[in-house]
Amino acid sequence: MSVRDNVAAVRKAIGRAAQAAGRDGADVKLVAVSKKIDTAKMLEAVEAGIRIFGENRIQEARSKQDTVCWPDDIVWHLIGSLQRNKSKLAVTLFDMIQSVDSLEISKYLNRHAGNAGRTLPLLIQVNLADEPSKSGFHPDAVVPAALEISRMEHLRVKGLMAIPPYCDNPEDVRPYFRQLRHIKNTLNDSGLDLSELSMGMSSDFEIAIEEGATMVRVGTAIFGQRRK
Ligand SMILES: *Cc1c(COP(=O)(O)O)cnc(C)c1O
Repeated sequence: MSVRDNVAAVRKAIGRAAQAAGRDGADVKLVAVSKKIDTAKMLEAVEAGIRIFGENRIQEARSKQDTVCWPDDIVWHLIGSLQRNKSKLAVTLFDMIQSVDSLEISKYLNRHAGNAGRTLPLLIQVNLADEPSKSGFHPDAVVPAALEISRMEHLRVKGLMAIPPYCDNPEDVRPYFRQLRHIKNTLNDSGLDLSELSMGMSSDFEIAIEEGATMVRVGTAIFGQRRK
């Protein structure tokens, strides 16, 4: 299958899942996860209509942005953990940071966004199952953290992101997606105005859409297996 065919198949599946949940497929943004994928394949995705790329490494994103003349309407989301010494660069490279996982990093991002004269949209990453291998706020810590970050002048908290535990049966991931939606609702009840839920990857994005995902992050189903 070509990248073009894969994008079409993923879009179709997004539409079907949205419809089954009584939602509009147009309300689900498709983030093409392009980590470790070469720019030739990424350009095929652009030809197929992809406009949002998700990258997890600063250097890789920078070299891809620098070596190709991308259309003006392409946007870049950081979906990987960010170290504070890269936060200044991250503010220049990314339109959105989906992986804000500590108050400390949010303070750096706020300062660098202010220095750059911009407002930075972000998602707060939640470590739903408290897995040591994953970053993100503990579910119990998200509400106070989100309230604090939302008071930072140059940041805009748009919603939540999570990478739930891997399950052979995607149905087993559903409770985690539901939990993330509940946390978002709690935050909105506390006075925030969060609209985005970034959840669902190649193996489970349809279930995530049924549970309210507004962004799905899909790599393998678009580009095929990544090199190790
Ligand atoms: C790699 C990655 C994805 C995409 O995973 P696939 O299974 O290839 O679709 C999504 N989100 C994050 C945070 C990732 O690191």
